[in-house]
Amino acid sequence: MLEIKHTLCPSCSVGCGINVILNDGEIVGTFPYKRHPVNAGKNCLNGRTSIESYQNKFQTALVSNSETDTEKAIGDVLKELNSVDASDVTVICSGNNSVEECKAIKEFGESKNYNIAFYADNLKDFGEVASYDDIENAASVFVIGDLLYENPLIGRRIVHAKQNDAKIYALGKSDKSVTFNIADEVATGSVQEFLDSNSANIEESSVIVFNYVDGQEDLEKLENANCKVLPVFSKSNSKGAFSVVDAKSEEEMIELLDNTKVLLVFNDDVVNDIDYDFTKISKIISFAPCENDTTAISNIVIPIKTWLENDGSFVNAMGESQAFSAVVESDVLSEIEIIEKLNG
Ligand code: SF4
Repeated sequence: MLEIKHTLCPSCSVGCGINVILNDGEIVGTFPYKRHPVNAGKNCLNGRTSIESYQNKFQTALVSNSETDTEKAIGDVLKELNSVDASDVTVICSGNNSVEECKAIKEFGESKNYNIAFYADNLKDFGEVASYDDIENAASVFVIGDLLYENPLIGRRIVHAKQNDAKIYALGKSDKSVTFNIADEVATGSVQEFLDSNSANIEESSVIVFNYVDGQEDLEKLENANCKVLPVFSKSNSKGAFSVVDAKSEEEMIELLDNTKVLLVFNDDVVNDIDYDFTKISKIISFAPCENDTTAISNIVIPIKTWLENDGSFVNAMGESQAFSAVVESDVLSEIEIIEKLNG
């Protein structure tokens, strides 16, 4: 029997709704969620393929690349944690976690006096930000990053702004930026140069939307811009995680990693995010739903529920909290259940 269940896309911070198709209880595909206010029936390729994390999920825990059961692996995690000082342990929280999971991770880290790290694309929380409707209604839109390609359902709002006669200024890392195809003016230099050269064009009725900066000084410049801004993160709940855990810059992350002996990674791919020699860290322990660059070099991997098996809430880039419920039942442990076990 075919069934359709509503949930949220976990693949970036835009917060699109997505329908999951089940056939006799098995997830077989996705289907656009027509009534969802963010994306009104559209999903990008990343959204449509997001169920792959469920289809490729870990079947067992791994210790030194050998399959083992989760209870034994959790016992090994506790041994590692007890073998070092609390100050040598760093806990990585992530925008892949729900707000509820972020709170549990923070509470766990603080109760043990571990270091807590959260990295959000080297960006920061801007508090009040532009809404997606603000983009459509802006007189001019300044786009930093290839949002049409990387965050297409925000890209769609930029296209609507263009159709509403807005002027589009785009900065990209290369001439191949898809966003350049709809821009009136394009640039490939630094963020600083882009903002400086357009300072006379940025007005109160403008919106600056961006998914990267070159450094922390760019963030200050964006914070002081005389128009609304919208940072778009690569992870679904980075905005929600900001309300729980302070974010670190890449520089601060590297400093912390230099002083870490045991790294606990909660549903993140920090190896892919940060340019760092992770082999310098004695033990890396990942709690992850499926394989990524970080689990590939982890000493211990504990499977966690995928988002399709979990309940929680994500806060999207414009600050709206959206709840989601499990699409399928599962007896895999959630991060919150694992933390309860680590707390004994
Ligand atoms: S734009 Fe982002 S949230 Fe929307 S479908 Fe694509 S990856 Fe998912």
